Amino acid sequence: MAIYDVVIIGSGLGGLLSAVFLAKEGLRVAVIEQNKQVGGCLQTFSFEKKLFDSCVHYIGALEEGQSQHRVFRYAGILDDLGLSRLDGDGFDRILLGDDPEDYPHAQGLDHFAALLKPYFNRSAKALDEYVQVLRQVGDSFPLYNLRNGNAHEKEAVSHWTMHDIMRRIPDEKLQHVLMGNNLLYAGARDKTPFYVHGLVTKSYIDSAYKIKGGSSQVSKLLWRRLQEHGGVIFRNEKVTGLREKNGAIQSAVTASGAVYEGRQFIANVHPAAALSWIDCSLIKPVYRKRILAAENSISAFMVNIVLQPGTVPYRNHNIYWNRSADVYAAVAYTPGEWPANYALYFGADTQYPGYADTVAILTYMHASELDEWRDTRNITAAPSEREAGYHAFKEEKAALLIDTVAARYPELRQHMLAFKVATPLTFRDYMGTPDGSIYGIMADVQNQAGTRIPIRTKIPNLLFTGQNIGIHGVLGVSINAVAASAELLGLDYLLEKIHKA
Ligand SMILES: Cc1cc2nc3c(=O)[nH]c(=O)nc-3n(C[C@H](O)[C@H](O)[C@H](O)COP(=O)(O)OP(=O)(O)OC[C@H]3O[C@@H](n4cnc5c(N)ncnc54)[C@H](O)[C@@H]3O)c2cc1C
Repeated sequence: MAIYDVVIIGSGLGGLLSAVFLAKEGLRVAVIEQNKQVGGCLQTFSFEKKLFDSCVHYIGALEEGQSQHRVFRYAGILDDLGLSRLDGDGFDRILLGDDPEDYPHAQGLDHFAALLKPYFNRSAKALDEYVQVLRQVGDSFPLYNLRNGNAHEKEAVSHWTMHDIMRRIPDEKLQHVLMGNNLLYAGARDKTPFYVHGLVTKSYIDSAYKIKGGSSQVSKLLWRRLQEHGGVIFRNEKVTGLREKNGAIQSAVTASGAVYEGRQFIANVHPAAALSWIDCSLIKPVYRKRILAAENSISAFMVNIVLQPGTVPYRNHNIYWNRSADVYAAVAYTPGEWPANYALYFGADTQYPGYADTVAILTYMHASELDEWRDTRNITAAPSEREAGYHAFKEEKAALLIDTVAARYPELRQHMLAFKVATPLTFRDYMGTPDGSIYGIMADVQNQAGTRIPIRTKIPNLLFTGQNIGIHGVLGVSINAVAASAELLGLDYLLEKIHKA
């Protein structure tokens, strides 16, 4: 039986990038993925011959010289990746309640502030200061800038909550316009560290791009590079156990009974799932308890719509609407307030230039709304029909969400040809996250020790990577992959290679 140098569990972006970085060094790498399609949140699907992203609709920091660009260039996928830049004068547009105005989030920090000033002319100084804090926070996270710094740099800014910083801005409406795309990070007033808002927001202000051909282009290209470096992905293989001997993991065992032996293991899955596979005295009950107790982000509900050709003009920006002028309210909505927010992501029709052929509507949803059906599972590889009540729930919620969107954008309902719905159970089953949590373990300023998950575990040859060990999102997970791979390769060594690529 083959013994791999590194066995990676989960082919999400974190697993794939780590696999490529390690395989490039000549290590024998195997990735084990439970799904047929690789990529986790990078998966795409189609219906009515139209392509949809299951999660990732746009990516930040992809301009030449910026961190995402550098990481993808080193991974060898940049030249083949079709990119299309969102509107520089407003890649996101923010809507609050009934206010008819849509406020632009523009690309480039100074440009961002400049384009909001006409709407908030008394807040020019506050906007400049906000942008300055974003710069400060961005500079305080060395790895985000692909440099090896020291932990103290980020400690200086890690204890601020979003609210601590945002309330310095005297105009409350401006505060909420700046946080209007809260769906990108599920920010909660007194829990979410400002740096989560800051790093995510800044990455898109630095530059915001869509992937032509869908987000799965990233995972397909990474897979190709991995193969070129001798790596392999085993699909339709669900890991159910990690066998330990003498304080080290020896092998990963899957539901099919296959055994993958390795010298080093990296879990690109939720840490709680990984720990449930291990029975080893090195994993202390207190550590296990801490990971199980860490709160996961809210889940989501998404309606993906196919539009009649040549009817709805394509918008080269995303739209974020919040029912309340207080955007923090959405993440803590009560069922009567649903949908409390939405994002609209448009797909450009290549056959009808200037028109959209698809639109995705994304909103928060508490997984508990689907408690009745939580024991059911349904994925393409193992289809199983859910009962009529679940379908009725989906229909009812989809109609409500579409009605809410149509109040502002009637053309989207008027020209809708077909739609498909994803619920928290869909996200749970396809992404493998607990309760369909969109961003995994949430950083909490009030509980930093309990929500910061280290890459290294107490088992010397088991590491974590992915969105749960740092910041989520394509950039966050890419940085976490650099950090996890650096545990095996050395950080200075890896960073030098990334910079030289
Ligand atoms: C609805 C939604 C919208 C988003 N939009 C954006 C966006 O526009 N831009 C952006 O930058 N980020 C976005 N994100 C966040 C981003 O997609 C994620 O943070 C990131 O892709 C997570 O990558 P990951 O490596 O942690 O793993 P994941 O993508 O979660 O992948 C984990 C993989 O592990 C596999 N796995 C799980 N359990 C097992 C097992 N037992 N055995 C084998 N394999 C297993 C899963 O099948 C999956 O393939 C979005 C996320 C969601 C949910």
